[in-house]
Amino acid sequence: MDWFTDLFGQAQQALFESVVQPIVFNLGYGNLLEDAFDATGWLLVGLLQIVVMLAVIGALQRWRPAEAVTDRRAIRVDILYTLIQRLGLFRLAMFFSLEPLADSLVSEMRMQGIPTFQLDAIWPGVTDQAWLSFIVYLLAFDLLQYWLHRAQHSWNWWWSLHSLHHSQRQMTMWSDSRNHLLDDILIDGAVVLVARLIGVGPGQFVALTAISQLLENLQHANLRVSFGLIGERLLVSPRFHRLHHSIGIGHEGFGRGTLGGHNFAVLFPVWDVIFRTSNFEDRWDPTGVRDQLPEEGGRDYGSGYWSQQWLGLKRLFGRDKIAPAHGGGDTPAGGASIDITGRAPAGGND
Ligand SMILES: [Zn+2]
Ligand SMILES: [Zn+2]
Repeated sequence: MDWFTDLFGQAQQALFESVVQPIVFNLGYGNLLEDAFDATGWLLVGLLQIVVMLAVIGALQRWRPAEAVTDRRAIRVDILYTLIQRLGLFRLAMFFSLEPLADSLVSEMRMQGIPTFQLDAIWPGVTDQAWLSFIVYLLAFDLLQYWLHRAQHSWNWWWSLHSLHHSQRQMTMWSDSRNHLLDDILIDGAVVLVARLIGVGPGQFVALTAISQLLENLQHANLRVSFGLIGERLLVSPRFHRLHHSIGIGHEGFGRGTLGGHNFAVLFPVWDVIFRTSNFEDRWDPTGVRDQLPEEGGRDYGSGYWSQQWLGLKRLFGRDKIAPAHGGGDTPAGGASIDITGRAPAGGND
């Protein structure tokens, strides 16, 4: 790994000197050069991720698609989400707001004598071995993300935001970043805070995030691949996560959060096994949210970036009610089987 760290450091330096530093100086923010250098590391990670996506995951998608591509326009908006999240303003804003906020919160806690669960205090010596602490942090983050994801599906207000992620009916490697901005801020805020609490170093945090995000891109890919009997239980596969996006079995968010739902894990399916939410069936169902179906009210989640963000806020504040299905007052009983083979008419979303 050392050669990679060296190479990464050199590339970061070069990108900083040739692009970022001149811009920062021109804007009159010379006092922020040190932060700008760190931010350049994130920018480089984003660039590398997109190269790997295009070269590797994109090739896999063409090799063995899970479903035919019928709506390229729906994919384009997810590309925009990816560019904003991985390269653009979002990351910069997070970097200059959330991370310093988490820093001051954690140092305040220390001053007050509140325990912060630093890993090297709980397990002395573990941080001397970089690879071992990396694995421990990876597992800790993944457990945290599992429960954050469960919460996104369990609380109606949070589901009203997270359902945007699920509203993609043409899932691809770009869909991982398709999130409501508020949803992203909440999740990233929690992750950054916990990272500071348990004492993840800055370099390790970048590496953890970079690897997790790339694996998440792979899981969302339009790719008919599962990892086999054992592999499926070790690492979240495209099959495993696509099932989480499947209408009717992966999640339920129809006005009352999720009752049931499967495959919430982000990297390691072991959490779904332990907490009894795993589903290892080899099935490839249409993806989306149940209430997008015409017979379930045909909710519109928007087709462009801003309409999707706006409609998310409307759902959050209860201003985006849809007509109840079949004229009935309440939602259908949990697990009621519906025909999910038909896709929502394209015109409805455009
Ligand atoms: Zn979900
Ligand atoms: Zn997803």
